Amino acid sequence: MMKSKMSDTSKVKYYSIFLMLGGFLFLVVSKIAYANPQHGVVLLYHHVSEDTPASTSISPDKFEEHMAYLKQNHKVVPLQRLIENIQNNQPLPENSVAITFDDGYRNIAENAHPILLKYDFPYTIFISPDLIGKQKHQLNWSEITELSQQGVTFANHTSIHKHLLLDNDQEGWLANTIEDIEHAEQSIKQHTSFNLKYLAYPYGEYNQALSQALLERGFIGFGQQSGAISKNSDFGALPRFPAAGIYANLNTLKVKMNTLDMPIISKSIAEPQLSLTERTPSQTIKVELDDIHKNQLSCFFAGQPIDLSWEDNAFTYHIQTKLPKGRSRINCTAPSIAYAGKYYWFSQPWFVPDENGNWLD
Ligand SMILES: [Zn+2]
Repeated sequence: MMKSKMSDTSKVKYYSIFLMLGGFLFLVVSKIAYANPQHGVVLLYHHVSEDTPASTSISPDKFEEHMAYLKQNHKVVPLQRLIENIQNNQPLPENSVAITFDDGYRNIAENAHPILLKYDFPYTIFISPDLIGKQKHQLNWSEITELSQQGVTFANHTSIHKHLLLDNDQEGWLANTIEDIEHAEQSIKQHTSFNLKYLAYPYGEYNQALSQALLERGFIGFGQQSGAISKNSDFGALPRFPAAGIYANLNTLKVKMNTLDMPIISKSIAEPQLSLTERTPSQTIKVELDDIHKNQLSCFFAGQPIDLSWEDNAFTYHIQTKLPKGRSRINCTAPSIAYAGKYYWFSQPWFVPDENGNWLD
């Protein structure tokens, strides 16, 4: 009798310990699952050459240096796999990176392709089909066919690469813009059989009306604001890290390749298009603080820190001086508590036209 009672108490004890351990494990696992959902980074290049415009170029040597670093430290995956696995909650190798090029310059085939083949890295080129065959520094269709036979993916960069926000106050702008993008998609499909419905906005410029309309038509949009991609991202305007020109420095690029998508709950403004008269935006962003110390979150404009104010788990940044005409980005970063060396990153692009309603190159 006594023995049996002891035994019951022991059972209860075992059960409690078991439950406590289980609860603890659940907390640890859910914390890790939270801090490390599927995140991926997309790199953006244009020219790989010594003698093209500096702001969009990287030398072949420097490009090789980037690829050697990626081979050692990351898993380079096809853009489609990165996007689809994130969207569908499918596993993605840790530190996944996808490589993209905009504009389809011939120097990609001449200088980058041999290096990418050597490392066996998949990559995607966004092209403007109505410009193909008209400019000699660009790939022609037979070169594009040859590259696609060697595993290179081609996607949509609009028909003729104009500033998409031009005349967006005119009637029919959205329908015409969508028609242009659909036309480019059909042309790429005819020539290469690729029909991914991935659109890279020329100059990274878009507005909410356009990105929403594209999403409704099954497209995914890619911008030129920086940051990592997660299921929480806006798939109408996904971020990519520019990796050429002043961004080619491998020490700063290493941090970017390791970033996580900022766990944003909500944003006060999603519209990146500003007018000449409203160039001092402030934006409030509510974030999950499970893996972030508030006091370590900083926002920057043109490399300079900008003022932040906090209310509970929402921070607000204020732009004090007018943003310049053209493209600007506000970047906000915070180190992960759980993952040493990794940063959460959020980038808000802002677009301002000039006095004549034109958009700067
Ligand atoms: Zn472009």
